[in-house]
Amino acid sequence: MILSSSLPGCAIERVIQSGGRLVVVAHARRVRGRCPTCGTTSTAVHSVYERHPADLPSVGQPMTLRLRVRRFYCHHRTCSRRTFAEPFPRLMPSQARRTRRLAQAQTRIGLAVGGEAGARLTGHLGMQTSPDTILRLVHRLPLPRVDPPRAVGIDDWAIRKGRTYGTLLVDLERRCLIDLLPDRSEVTVADLFAQQLGSTS
Ligand SMILES: [Zn+2]
Repeated sequence: MILSSSLPGCAIERVIQSGGRLVVVAHARRVRGRCPTCGTTSTAVHSVYERHPADLPSVGQPMTLRLRVRRFYCHHRTCSRRTFAEPFPRLMPSQARRTRRLAQAQTRIGLAVGGEAGARLTGHLGMQTSPDTILRLVHRLPLPRVDPPRAVGIDDWAIRKGRTYGTLLVDLERRCLIDLLPDRSEVTVADLFAQQLGSTS
């Protein structure tokens, strides 16, 4: 069963079956649109078209939305925009071909098993996509911001015990390895601080 609350900001008109997929026909609940350029609201509809983003599967079947999208006039005198399409920001980014939650699920699959295996898995789970798409979704993830370490531990480590030693640097707060350097030279350590650790040197 598909509830209206499962499509944020939308009212469901009907659910039909087409080509082995569930198709949810829906439209935006709001009466008026807000111009993204000037912020003026408008109820003057220029035209209506459809978007067909893929969504998470339901009761084991692939699901597609058929969203009726209104394009409004902006009548504000000084606004440079003549018309604008209503967005569905909680559901999907503009121009997207899949909902945010589907993209999130496919991204998690990609992170867990990679592109090729992920694509095979999505086929079994009713959210079929290609290895390339899975990898593209994973690459879009923002990289975690890593602050420079505030407390660094330095010690020797044996490359060949009794013969050759390198330098081991540890982030003492995060309790993790920063780098293994191939020698015990102060210059090598100073270079690493200069390049990677910034103000902690
Ligand atoms: Zn405007």
